[in-house]
Amino acid sequence: MRSPCVIVVGAQWGDEGKGKVVDLLAGHFAWIARYQGGHNAGHTVVIGGQRFILQLIPCGVLRGVSKAVIGNGVVLDPQALVDEIATLRAAGVDVAGKLFVSTRAHVILPYHRSIEHAAESAPGRLRIGTTSRGIGPAYEDKMGRRGLRVADLYDAALLRDHIREALAEKNAIAAALYNAPPLDAGRILETYQSLSDQIRPFVADTGALLNAAAARGESILLEGAQGALLDIDHGTYPFVTSSSTTAGGACIGTGLAPTRLTGAIGVSKAYCTRVGGGPFPTELAGAAGDALRRRGNEFGSVTGRPRRVGWFDAPLMRYAAALNGLDALVVTKLDVLDEFERIPVCVGYKGGDVIPPAAAGWEALEPVYEELPGWQTPTEGVTRWDDLPLRARDYLAFLARVSGVEIGMVSTGPERGQTITLAGSRLERLLGAAPEAPRASGQSARP
Ligand code: GDP
Repeated sequence: MRSPCVIVVGAQWGDEGKGKVVDLLAGHFAWIARYQGGHNAGHTVVIGGQRFILQLIPCGVLRGVSKAVIGNGVVLDPQALVDEIATLRAAGVDVAGKLFVSTRAHVILPYHRSIEHAAESAPGRLRIGTTSRGIGPAYEDKMGRRGLRVADLYDAALLRDHIREALAEKNAIAAALYNAPPLDAGRILETYQSLSDQIRPFVADTGALLNAAAARGESILLEGAQGALLDIDHGTYPFVTSSSTTAGGACIGTGLAPTRLTGAIGVSKAYCTRVGGGPFPTELAGAAGDALRRRGNEFGSVTGRPRRVGWFDAPLMRYAAALNGLDALVVTKLDVLDEFERIPVCVGYKGGDVIPPAAAGWEALEPVYEELPGWQTPTEGVTRWDDLPLRARDYLAFLARVSGVEIGMVSTGPERGQTITLAGSRLERLLGAAPEAPRASGQSARP
């Protein structure tokens, strides 16, 4: 049997609770790698009542056993990395010798931040709802072949010339388009020289490390940030993030060979949320939406922005399952639905399941709902499938059936322990905990 090389992706628009799930699964893996995004990810992990928000470093490090990789597909703000290492150290987690940052990751520079901020606030501009951390502009420079990579930080002449030349252009753009003040090349150079010294112990050829680890039979977990529906190609463009969040991005963003992969796990809430603008067919407005938002504490962990909330959208889940080749689903925040009398689930769209490629197509979509009876019994902290109310079990089995993906784990609270693991599930087999068996077709009484 091959050692597990498993991708964990958000199956919705992000914030599905991947932080908790990756933290839980991390114990099974020798390596945890991030493959895209930047310090806008904001995974929340609660351990013993202590809340950690990790934006850049893979959440697996909190387990203390795995080695953590920030892959080449991530865009790196060195200041954010230095700050996060310091925060973890203060909390008693030392990443020395355990954290590896790709030499090929692109670097976020101050002008990326200032241009993004100015552009998002400019009148007449389509608001994507970005976090204004410079992530999008850093990806633009990467694709425009004018980016700066981590390895370049250690070539003093190249770094100086790069900053000077980039600023000549960026300052002109910032002034002409956004009336923004110029940034000073000397100051940026000084700051980045100091930051590069601080991150130097962590810099490595992480693609080579991961492929060598896989060849030695070591297990690897690839941790996606954001969610499948925010993928630059496959998401709800243009209301998407600037990178490939779906499973295909995991190999590009780490250098790990695709032939090493053994499976993909999707993480979804028992309902649905999204942050910022863009299509959301099952969005719930009004008092019911407020109740769901309040119960789910649906406010951004990085930005504090209220999240838009709505019901579980099975057509979008089927889309995400197909795109990512999901083998198993983890359903989080089941407890948030505890008080609802009836829980609608979108099972399809009128006129078919076509996921619109154009922004306008979304407006015409009409969700078709099936309403399931709520269980109106607390499930917070339940750890055994059999201890769930029957209606909650039925609800989960329904989600699995309409999604076409087996559920392997259910989360009933933010803490590590507040989790139901379904013994003998495909997810367990993916983790290498049980022998491979033929893929089950259809769903049994359990999800
Ligand atoms: P991520 O980016 O996908 O990791 O998601 P976030 O960390 O932004 O959002 C998940 C939030 O839900 C965090 O505050 C978690 O602590 C919390 N959470 C995760 N799982 C559960 C759960 O099963 N129930 C409840 N009530 N909260 C959860």
